[in-house]
Amino acid sequence: MPSLQDPITVLAGVGPKKAQALQELGIATVDDLLHYYPFRYEDLKVKAINEIGDQEKVTLKGLIISEPIVSRFGRGKNRLNVRLMIDRVVVIVTFFNQPWLKERFTTGAEVAVYGKWDAKRKGLTGMKVLAVKTDEDPGFASIYSVNKHIRQQTLVHLIKQAFDQYRDLIVDWVPAYLRQKYRLLPERVIVEAMHFPADVQAAQQARRSAIFEEFFLFQLRLQTLKRQATLGAQGQTVAYNNQQLRAFLSTLPFELTRAQKRVTNEICRDLKSPYHMNRLLQGDVGSGKTIVAATVMYATVTAGKQAALMAPTEILAEQHYHNLSRLFNDFPVQIALLTSATKPKARREILAGLADGTVQMIIGTHALIQKDVQFAALGLAITDEQHRFGVNQRRILREKGQQPDVLAMTATPIPRTLAITTYGEMDVSTIDELPAGRQPIQTQWLRSNQEQSAVDLVRQALQQHQQAYVVTPLIEASEVMDLKNAQAVFERMQAQFEPDYRVGLLHGQMSNAEKDDVMQRFKADDFQVLVATTVIEVGVDVPNANMMIIFDADRFGLSQLHQLRGRIGRGQTAATCLLIADPKNQTAIERMQIMTETNDGFKISQKDLELRGAGDVLGQRQSGLPEFKIGDPINDVRILEVAQIEAQQLLSESLGTAAERQVLDQYLQHYQQRDQTLD
Ligand code: ADP
Ligand code: MG
Repeated sequence: MPSLQDPITVLAGVGPKKAQALQELGIATVDDLLHYYPFRYEDLKVKAINEIGDQEKVTLKGLIISEPIVSRFGRGKNRLNVRLMIDRVVVIVTFFNQPWLKERFTTGAEVAVYGKWDAKRKGLTGMKVLAVKTDEDPGFASIYSVNKHIRQQTLVHLIKQAFDQYRDLIVDWVPAYLRQKYRLLPERVIVEAMHFPADVQAAQQARRSAIFEEFFLFQLRLQTLKRQATLGAQGQTVAYNNQQLRAFLSTLPFELTRAQKRVTNEICRDLKSPYHMNRLLQGDVGSGKTIVAATVMYATVTAGKQAALMAPTEILAEQHYHNLSRLFNDFPVQIALLTSATKPKARREILAGLADGTVQMIIGTHALIQKDVQFAALGLAITDEQHRFGVNQRRILREKGQQPDVLAMTATPIPRTLAITTYGEMDVSTIDELPAGRQPIQTQWLRSNQEQSAVDLVRQALQQHQQAYVVTPLIEASEVMDLKNAQAVFERMQAQFEPDYRVGLLHGQMSNAEKDDVMQRFKADDFQVLVATTVIEVGVDVPNANMMIIFDADRFGLSQLHQLRGRIGRGQTAATCLLIADPKNQTAIERMQIMTETNDGFKISQKDLELRGAGDVLGQRQSGLPEFKIGDPINDVRILEVAQIEAQQLLSESLGTAAERQVLDQYLQHYQQRDQTLD
């Protein structure tokens, strides 16, 4: 019996080779093929000249009134010009680097050309020469993304074949009550209109329905995963001691902000519940996530369980270790630090302590997820800067305990759009205010020929007994160049400031011990200026360093600039960040402007998202961010939100008919297998 899950090879003309090419496009089954939608449409209908907007893509039909002329320009480039008479207007059609098209233009003949209209020039940059069928418009073309092993026409042909043979098997995934509520088309109509639309309106209508469907099904998968994680697997009840927790909080030198209190409560509620916590804690740099982490780790310890905190770098792990050791100085808590730099003997002792439960809090790097690290009773697993870890690394840490509660922290705040798509399976807590009394960081953008004034500003800060970071450019794909650059900047800064002030250097090629040494000395004011590559990016805290120069700032992404800048502005005096950049393109210019305008991490990441796209902001693989085929989580965010709410409701209230739910169950089972193989 034919089924939509039939392999693509059932279609005539698809052998192993073509199947492989299709596989590369993510098409394995007939169903995949039918849902492989065009990414755009070309309107090949002939238009009248006065209807065409500037830069619009159109088809023009007219009489050829001149010999085509091919002329050369630049290096190996050429252009073909030919004049057409259209609606009694003369139009110049230009084709670049396709001199052979000359043969298609015979003076006196009629021709149709598809291309881009330049209204000022009254000219068309040609893209395609079309056959002229009198009285019949060339019409409408669906454009698919293809690879070099498969052509547009082949794909169109296969889709036609599949649609003809399987159209009756196409079922509605979106239940009728939702289709009615949102005026969505039935599935069969969507598939047909997406591939073979009668006109622009039909394609757009179908697209809206298809986007809803895509988001809805995606949310259904995500929410199902979430329910399985929370309802299926019993978590731990971390019955912490409220009195002890209060006693700890009263020893802090400051009061928690409202936001800190709120998120701490949210986490504590989860700890106490028997369900498995899977929570994201997001808060801008400097919003005080560490103290929240320390508090809930202590809560875990008062419940007789262990808490682990994993950080992406040695420096960060050390810093957390020092901070926590200080915070719990007067409390009987056993805290240990485990990194790759930990000496074998100490490591053995720590491992033994973790295994028998005497070590209650452990802070570390990837060293924490080595095979031989075992816990007596891991109750809470926290990852700091969670996006720096892969999905698998986070899972391994989690599996060191029996369904421990999980908290992922991030200083890259993400807009709601992304939270919905990426972390739909997590609960999100947000610290949306900074501790009172912070001075906003002033950011200025200077050109590279103004380096001296930047240096002068740094000198002024040094004279006030402050310290400064100088961040050297990031040179992609070359650590050697990175180092060379850092070295050069280092020497330049030495020439500027020594012997009055001392200059240190920190770069990625140093051993961890060397890096830590430099950081500690900077903290101790042994150096007043620290020249560094992006090694300092995450979490490092030196309150007296309140000035920063970032060279070639246009080479960094917005979020990264924001992270770097977050190293300063942690003390009592006003902080200044100087971006030095000669950006070459509009997006880079915009990035510099945004940095000078706002310190708000949420605004910055929203902007980053708009400028770069979602995949780049979080890193496709690590974030597990899905690539939507038709929906765009930024532009179609309203549909995404509605789809999320509807998916949640359908699951929790068992909405729709039994038959509809069965169709969805089949869909979910099918895709669950696929999702699992992705990891
Ligand atoms: P991040 O969220 O970037 O990890 P940290 O936890 O490093 O931020 O906190 C930044 C600084 O703010 C630290 O020096 C910390 O001691 C301080 N801090 C945290 N919470 C408060 C608060 N409620 N009031 C005043 N200072 C605070
Ligand atoms: Mg932090």
